[in-house]
Amino acid sequence: MMENSRKAEAPTSVPELFGSMVFNDHVMKERLPKETYKALRRTMELGKKLDPSVANVVANAMKDWAVEKGATHFTHWFQPMTGITAEKHDSFIYPDGDSAVIMEFSGKELVKGEPDASSFPSGGLRATFEARGYTAWDPSSYAFIKEKTLCIPTVFYSYGGEALDKKTPLLRSMEVINKQALRILRLFGDTTTTRVTTTVGPEQEYFLIDTEQYKKREDLKLCGRTLFGAKAPKGQELEDHYFGTIKPRVAEFMEELDQELWKLGIFVKTEHNEVAPAQHEMAPIFTDTNLASDHNQLTMEVMKRVASRHGMACLLHEKPFEGINGSGKHNNWSISTNTGVNLLEPGDSPKENAQFLLFLTAVIKAVDEYQDLLRVSVASAGNDHRLGANEAPPAIVSMFLGDDLTEILEAIEAGTSYDKKDAEVMKVGVHILPRFPKDTTDRNRTSPFAFTGNKFEFRMLGSDLSIAGPNVVLNTIVAEELSQFADKLEQADDFDEALQELIRKTFAEHKRIVFNGNNYAKEWVEEAKVRGLMNLATTADALPSFIADKNIELFTKHKIFTTAELHSRYEILMEVYCKKLHIEAATMIDMAHRQILPAIARYSCDLTKTALEKQQLSGAISCEFELDTVTELSTDAGQLRRALVEMESDLEKAEGIDDVTEQANYYKDVILSDMEKVREAADRAEVLTAKAYWPFPDYTDLLYSVM
Ligand code: ADP
Ligand code: MG
Repeated sequence: MMENSRKAEAPTSVPELFGSMVFNDHVMKERLPKETYKALRRTMELGKKLDPSVANVVANAMKDWAVEKGATHFTHWFQPMTGITAEKHDSFIYPDGDSAVIMEFSGKELVKGEPDASSFPSGGLRATFEARGYTAWDPSSYAFIKEKTLCIPTVFYSYGGEALDKKTPLLRSMEVINKQALRILRLFGDTTTTRVTTTVGPEQEYFLIDTEQYKKREDLKLCGRTLFGAKAPKGQELEDHYFGTIKPRVAEFMEELDQELWKLGIFVKTEHNEVAPAQHEMAPIFTDTNLASDHNQLTMEVMKRVASRHGMACLLHEKPFEGINGSGKHNNWSISTNTGVNLLEPGDSPKENAQFLLFLTAVIKAVDEYQDLLRVSVASAGNDHRLGANEAPPAIVSMFLGDDLTEILEAIEAGTSYDKKDAEVMKVGVHILPRFPKDTTDRNRTSPFAFTGNKFEFRMLGSDLSIAGPNVVLNTIVAEELSQFADKLEQADDFDEALQELIRKTFAEHKRIVFNGNNYAKEWVEEAKVRGLMNLATTADALPSFIADKNIELFTKHKIFTTAELHSRYEILMEVYCKKLHIEAATMIDMAHRQILPAIARYSCDLTKTALEKQQLSGAISCEFELDTVTELSTDAGQLRRALVEMESDLEKAEGIDDVTEQANYYKDVILSDMEKVREAADRAEVLTAKAYWPFPDYTDLLYSVM
């Protein structure tokens, strides 16, 4: 029925479709009285409180608009620490007289909500007697309609005012980088820019598999990834999937996905296949970080919904299949002024170039000094399977600048000329820099943090991650360096001289973070150690850095997080890590005991019966195949069972550990290797067992299920 009603809709042009489900500036202008519109804009631009009378008018206009578009409910749409979005739906319905209803929505309901928040993670911030959480409209992100519900993007905080979500710190970090970048711009004589924002274009990778196959796999349903599975005979070795022709069913999915996202005002630009079979990618056009973050959350949600309409499951896990590339999310990040200048793009004049070089060195210093925080910002149990594997950036944070830019900075450092034919010393603010064409800057696909001509591409994010966290870190660490730079330069007697010296000194002190070589090479791990770079291999190793003194100092100085908020987030992240691994181990135990071992037993029994029948027929017939297979299978099954028993007892020990850090380390050191042993034995048995007996779809079924 759904299918038909969708198809019956009259075709609309893309510009007509675009943003049609968003209460955006255009709609506001059209629907709000002039004064209300102006008051609302002031709130949006200056972050001022919304006057209750204004809120009532806005709420009413929003409701009318939403009801015309078929909405019946509204919700405060927020991003708690679970990493996914949360919503509690209320209908617009109000009783009117005896048996009638009217559709109502008040300013109070728009501006603030009180969800019963006791079941969202708070890391101890919210005492149980004060279970209330509050949601407040974030007017910098437009309301939109999704599945007949008016969604109001909101922040989520506790009774005591502590942030309980991913959005509040992101908004705080945007303010901080705005403030510090403006100080720098003023030093360069820019008096026209009034706002600096960071921009992000997140590229999203995902897998599509057939729903019928998906449903038969308990691990996919409960954990989002396969916990068992022998390699398929064909993987990604032929490299025939990347940019290959898109299968008709996938093409239909992509077409509908584009349309659904366009309706929500999301700038989807490209859709293509990725390296692994059944893997694809979607890239949007970049926008303000806050909006990009909302949009990416919505994108992931819409992807899953649209896929299911096409009989497919969309897997957003960072590593759904062993031996096959995992999925990432490339966070393309830059800094822009409201006058339209990209501050990470070399300009046409020496002055613009000097400014570019200063922002660039701020990023270099930030990435070097806060490697640990960048690593923490992408840490999760799922992403641990990806980082460091050959398909993804390693867990060591370094940055790629490309040869041209590195040579320029080296020339400044050494006080020599950049152009070899030129005898003149490379002087900041005097020389014009070359433009860096994409092909000279984007060659290195192995770098976790690459300069790509006019932006940085942070490539360590897993596909499942909210981009809010990494961007809070990026905004804050760069803001910190800009503030240090501004402190120095504002005091300088000779600005040009001080600038030259600052860039020279900063590069000299932090160039160890620049690495233009192959990040996948084994030698890099050694060299990085010599350079003193950190190698935080797993989430359990990385997370403690989150509450290291220097990082608490950074976040509290800029009022991004309080010390209490940092500790609570640390607890939550550690707990989530342990819980995820616990669920995976428990799922393995369940699947192995109740599906895999019985299947092996059935097959072995049938083989034994066949052998017996053969023997009865004639003792001369060989039963070598049957007997050898049964013998091998019983060895594997025995090992599998022993591994399971060991894991069960280790899990019990894990649950007995009170300290969350200690517990996480136990999961990392003991449970993960238990899981490996279980999988090894099961995967060996899978290859020996007839396909008809295996209790769930294998890798070939999963990876080549969509035609
Ligand atoms: P491609 O890699 O497809 O050749 P680009 O390198 O231009 O294309 O863009 C890759 C991603 O980077 C896109 O999502 C794009 O919107 C984003 N991007 C481009 N410029 C910026 C910018 N200034 N700030 C943030 N993201 C950007
Ligand atoms: Mg990519």
